[in-house]
Amino acid sequence: MQFRDLKQQYAVLKDDIDKAVAGVLSSAQFISGGPVRELEAQLAEYVGVKHCITCANGTDAITLALKAWGIGSGDAVFVPDFTFFSTGECPAAEGAVPVFVDVDERSFNIDPDRLEEAIIKVKNDGRYTPRAVAAVDLFGLPAEYDRIKEICQKYGLLLLEDGAQGFGGELNGKRACSFGDISTTSFFPAKPLGCYGDGGAVFTNNDEWAAIIRSLAVHGKNAENKYDNIRIGMNSRLDTLQAAVLQVKLRAFREYELADVSKAAELYNEAFSDSGLVLPLVNAGYMSSWAQYTVQLPEGADRSAVQAKLKEQGIPSMVYYMKPMHVQGAFAGTYSADADCPVTEMLCGKVLSLPMHPYLSKNDIYTVAEALKEALR
Ligand SMILES: *Cc1c(COP(=O)(O)O)cnc(C)c1O
Repeated sequence: MQFRDLKQQYAVLKDDIDKAVAGVLSSAQFISGGPVRELEAQLAEYVGVKHCITCANGTDAITLALKAWGIGSGDAVFVPDFTFFSTGECPAAEGAVPVFVDVDERSFNIDPDRLEEAIIKVKNDGRYTPRAVAAVDLFGLPAEYDRIKEICQKYGLLLLEDGAQGFGGELNGKRACSFGDISTTSFFPAKPLGCYGDGGAVFTNNDEWAAIIRSLAVHGKNAENKYDNIRIGMNSRLDTLQAAVLQVKLRAFREYELADVSKAAELYNEAFSDSGLVLPLVNAGYMSSWAQYTVQLPEGADRSAVQAKLKEQGIPSMVYYMKPMHVQGAFAGTYSADADCPVTEMLCGKVLSLPMHPYLSKNDIYTVAEALKEALR
């Protein structure tokens, strides 16, 4: 059994993907070819925002947003303590300070009450200027944007949506990657919408930021002339082969993959209803794109032993995430290390992510559920 079955997906989409790749090879337009612009239009339309700028990966997407806003030395960016490293790494790499905020124990996403406390604390400390909140749609579930937006307005902060895991999710009928002043995503192969290498995208309704990001992604070029460089930028492009693959995959994602992965989540929920596990909760008004199906093991369960028993039966499982951000060695001795996040610490000890993808069979789901329940007995 695969954790995320990309071979099976390729087997289903092979004819269309092979044709799309062959088309790029014969066009020999490997950078900024037609499929890149077409894909950007399709992604913007799907998400429901005015501008989509593709780039080299989800980490660069966050960096491009921060650079467009001029976030750097002396600035504070509020980041959930329970996330992939990039969300905190990017502000730190720009010279800003990531301030880690605890999460909600059922949604796994940044806790709006803790967020407001952290903003007040940074303001009172007076060392750093609060500039932005980088909310994450963890495991496919949009963060609590109604409340987060209110808080951002109240304190005059910019909102970045790190939708690297959230693409395809919804809140009150609006799609993920539309909630931030700028939103970002990743097309790393294992994400909800993945390509065949690295890729990412930035989304915004703001014309000025969109133009700056397009420039920053290509060495700070002037809009008309790529050899007239008006700002210090990066080289961060999605190549044409990846765009062609993504066009095929986006069609499958919209037509059936999202529906199928939701069905898989429902089957897991039913199979685990009597298990004593804490199951992922999707509140009314929310839709998850199920980047991960993550359960919490009962108090005192030996997670490594459980994983070993699953592995004996050929069932892969992963721990996302093992370590709170604020205890990562990279932040040792910095302002960022001084965070109080008991929920994240609890989650890091108990979470387990199970095989999850649109091509998972009913049989596989029952096999995983039975094996996990048995391992816990
Ligand atoms: C994967 C991920 C990223 C980074 O995306 P890459 O394409 O791997 O650079 C950023 N944030 C979160 C939450 C992620 O899961």
